[in-house]
Amino acid sequence: MIIVMRPAASEAEIRTVVGRVERMGYKVHLSQGEARTVIGVVGEKPIVDREQFDMMEGVERTVRILQPFKLAGREFHAADTVIDVSGVKIGGNQIILMAGPCSVESRTQLLETAWAVKEAGAHILRGGAFKPRSSPYSFQGMGEEGLQILAEAREQTGLPIVTEVMAPEQVALVAEYSDILQIGARNMQNYALLHAVGRSNRPVFLKRGMMSTIEEWLMSAEYVLSNGNYQVMLCERGIRTFERYTRNTLDINAIPVLKQLSHLPVIGDPSHGTGKWDLVAATAKACVAAGADGLMIEVHPNPAEALSDGAQSLKPEKFAQLVRELKAVAAAVGRAL
Ligand code: PEP
Ligand code: MN
Repeated sequence: MIIVMRPAASEAEIRTVVGRVERMGYKVHLSQGEARTVIGVVGEKPIVDREQFDMMEGVERTVRILQPFKLAGREFHAADTVIDVSGVKIGGNQIILMAGPCSVESRTQLLETAWAVKEAGAHILRGGAFKPRSSPYSFQGMGEEGLQILAEAREQTGLPIVTEVMAPEQVALVAEYSDILQIGARNMQNYALLHAVGRSNRPVFLKRGMMSTIEEWLMSAEYVLSNGNYQVMLCERGIRTFERYTRNTLDINAIPVLKQLSHLPVIGDPSHGTGKWDLVAATAKACVAAGADGLMIEVHPNPAEALSDGAQSLKPEKFAQLVRELKAVAAAVGRAL
């Protein structure tokens, strides 16, 4: 249920309503819009007697939310959520580019890539230090040393960083180094991990599970939001279909669907979405045209030698070319880049 307060409701009236909700054993989440405050009421037991709130001072109306996701939906928070990461605003008018290698492989590799993507116009540096590999015999990432290299790259270039966290016990360590915590596709429904990042104060980059519906994905976002962390962005990275020509099927539909249902920023990942570097530019443009707030793109100085995902990684000059082309697409849909 949400309780929509009148535009003129006073602080005291809001506090009284919140107090009553809490005494009934429900959890309160506040959405403070420009015009009015919306009080989100969530809990495990069904809410009976909604009308008692309708009569309270300052209350305009109460609304039962029919969708299973509550805090992720537009009923609770109508305006787009904009997440500020050290001055980079994700979810606003500007298309945000997150670029870098799949894995941090060495100091030289990462610093070279960081400078190249920055010069090309990227806003955020990506790079995995803890890698969720399908095979235990594949490169598993550099771990904490990789995080230190990412932090050095941020220091040098000024680019905030996004990197994956794979387990609840890693959250504190990764949050110490990273500006954004990435939850990978394989962990989208790792509820212990979602709880843990929900209790951290870092923005969360939630990738879609490769076999997850949009509703399941929004329910995973709900785990993070309901723990009090409202800074969540959703990344469409392709789903598994019968098609084997591409690694995954990038679900372009999901982008406008999410923009309708949710206020959270939506990012497209054409690298994992296709698995092929020569399909990245076309699908990146499609994401922006469809309404994505940003892109995550894998870039490697020498893709043939990459320790992970070389086949889908762009060389720096190809990334720079793509950024130039994306500017026209962004302008065509009324966005800045
Ligand atoms: C990645 O971003 O490198 C990654 C492992 O992505 P996903 O979780 O989408 O497979
Ligand atoms: Mn990758």
